[in-house]
Amino acid sequence: MLNLTYSYRIYPDAIQEAQMLEWMEQCRRVYNYALAERKDWMNSRRCQLNACSLRSEYIIPADTPYPNYYAQKRNLTAARKVIPELDSVHSQVLQEALARLDKSFRFMQQREFGFPRFKSVGQFRSLLFPQFKTNPVTGWQVKLPKIGAVGLNLHRPIPDGFVVKQVRVVKKASGWYAMLVLESDISIPDPMPIGNSIGIDLGLEKFLAVSTGKLVARPKFFVQLQSKLKWLQRQLKDKVKGSNNYRKAQSKIRRLHERIHNTRREFHFQVAHQLCSNVGMIFAEELNLKATSRGMLAKHCLDAGWGGFLDILGWVCKKRDVYFARVNPNGTSQTCPKCGTHTGKKELSQRVHHCVECGYTTDRDVAAAIVVEQRGLTAVGHTVVLPVEVNRLAVPVKQESLRGNSWKPTL
Ligand SMILES: [Zn+2]
Repeated sequence: MLNLTYSYRIYPDAIQEAQMLEWMEQCRRVYNYALAERKDWMNSRRCQLNACSLRSEYIIPADTPYPNYYAQKRNLTAARKVIPELDSVHSQVLQEALARLDKSFRFMQQREFGFPRFKSVGQFRSLLFPQFKTNPVTGWQVKLPKIGAVGLNLHRPIPDGFVVKQVRVVKKASGWYAMLVLESDISIPDPMPIGNSIGIDLGLEKFLAVSTGKLVARPKFFVQLQSKLKWLQRQLKDKVKGSNNYRKAQSKIRRLHERIHNTRREFHFQVAHQLCSNVGMIFAEELNLKATSRGMLAKHCLDAGWGGFLDILGWVCKKRDVYFARVNPNGTSQTCPKCGTHTGKKELSQRVHHCVECGYTTDRDVAAAIVVEQRGLTAVGHTVVLPVEVNRLAVPVKQESLRGNSWKPTL
């Protein structure tokens, strides 16, 4: 089973647009209601029996079960019978709003932080049609239940052997889009772990380091776009809330967010393709979500978009028949790739790995990438080749000489 998501621009007419916006608003209400229900239930059970605060008294009877996805779905079906606004929305689309909430609760439990928030007006910007009995896409239209046929720019054809499983309609700053989730029964065998191997280490100072010694710099355009974003956000502050100028500034910010997202994605695809050339195996660290998205480093990590990159890399590898695996990330930067000695924790400012046991010296992130590669090779049963004795970066090491190796993808 193979899944793909293709994104196409769609052009709803005024009536369809109004209808879809109304549906999003109803989905938002359902989402918020369901979130409040879960929150109330949790609050009513948080207090201790002997010290019940006024705020969290038992408003909800003690034997009421937790409002999980299935309970909320049943309640929704009942509510649709009495609330005509809800009834006018396609039932599965509304249920998907509940599913989305359920997903964010499960994600929170996984990460142990990030309680789902209420969505304000206009913050619910997508509708998911989860099921289609027949192909909804003709050459120039997509047929959505209850909405009707919406004009679609099929700028690239749906590949042979694929059927449309789901359609997600998204309202972005630049217009309306349909994300088609395509599925195929064709099974493509997973790539075998053979050929040359590389390990990669994702970093903060540079985007990533490859075990071969290459460093991929963090693209400069992000800094430029971010500072533009900050400037626009300052502009917004001076405008009167709700005024025409406020809305104009807001839409500029939304468009820039979209552009940053697209640029980052494009960069990730380019790096992924370059990594895949002339190799048979790629190993990367498993990302620890709990550790990375927290604290001081959070902003940088999110900007680098590591999680998204590894997903894209995995996908590109599969497409190009390269074996891809993630390895245990613990202590990769504290192990000497040559002799395996535990070198102790390095400060972020310490850019060079120098082993006191065997004298092996190299860039700190390259050393970590080599360790990642070694772990991956061991996991798939290959023999590990230790790095060569004399390293070109033997002491003294200048920061500049490392920078010189920076490998920038052509943009
Ligand atoms: Zn060593």
